Amino acid sequence: MRLDSTVDALDETGADVDVTFRDGEHARYDLVIGADGVHSRVRHLTFPEIGEEEYVGQVCWRAVAPRPPEVTEYLMYHGAGSKVGLVAISAEQVYLYMLQNVPEPPERRGGDRRDELRAALAEYGGSVPQVAATLEPGAEVRRLTSLLVPAPWHRGRAVLIGDAAHATTPHISYGLGIAVEDGLVLTEELVAHGSTAAALNAFSDRRFERARMVVENSVQLSKWEQDPHADMAAYGALIGRTLGALTAPI
Ligand SMILES: Cc1cc2nc3c(=O)[nH]c(=O)nc-3n(C[C@H](O)[C@H](O)[C@H](O)COP(=O)(O)OP(=O)(O)OC[C@H]3O[C@@H](n4cnc5c(N)ncnc54)[C@H](O)[C@@H]3O)c2cc1C
Repeated sequence: MRLDSTVDALDETGADVDVTFRDGEHARYDLVIGADGVHSRVRHLTFPEIGEEEYVGQVCWRAVAPRPPEVTEYLMYHGAGSKVGLVAISAEQVYLYMLQNVPEPPERRGGDRRDELRAALAEYGGSVPQVAATLEPGAEVRRLTSLLVPAPWHRGRAVLIGDAAHATTPHISYGLGIAVEDGLVLTEELVAHGSTAAALNAFSDRRFERARMVVENSVQLSKWEQDPHADMAAYGALIGRTLGALTAPI
């Protein structure tokens, strides 16, 4: 385990991969797994032709607050150009998210964004005003983006998993789900095959279609949320079909 470090270069030797770390040290490995998220350094090194993730026209505000007693599971509210979810995450706390249509990608800024979030929540009723008034520090806003690397997700002895290979908007709430599944399936295939190349091909074969479905259907849902003339019956049906398909064995 190396903390506070990253990978500078990957060199295939034929039998293994020579990895150069940021501090200049080298080490050799049988396999490099790029599980380093949407801005994956391993992807940039291994698939340099793949560009950055694409902004989809929405942002997600996120915050935590004390739980009002009536919020016992999941409440959703629809506003003009945004929607809000309240999710009870413990007896004491509620998670609030707001998906908001913002055509141009907003500039990235850190810091506590509670005041802006409260202003954006002003149109909402129900339990939202109470939650808005008691937001805990640390409210943030994230751009929603997507990216799908074509299969196979390996070159030589370097393979991508999770958001590094397939970053999705949260419309199906399953980006982390497919990331964790990747780890399980990759392990199974490495155990099942004598050859790394065969295992990595089998891994992408099992994973690509499921990840494509989550990424592309999530982007479609995002588009419909930004289209005032969208057929919301089709929107609901796509969520149902996608969640149904996700119950299939991996
Ligand atoms: C607003 C929002 C809401 C979401 N809601 C849901 C949801 O409800 N349900 C769901 O299933 N998914 C959700 N997701 C998606 C989910 O967060 C991701 O799909 C998931 O975190 C991907 O996991 P990962 O391990 O592939 O990448 P990450 O979680 O991004 O982890 C990558 C790790 O690699 C590290 N790293 C990055 N670069 C380097 C480097 N160069 N060197 C070393 N380490 C590095 C990072 O520090 C990080 O720890 C949401 C995403 C967003 C943006």
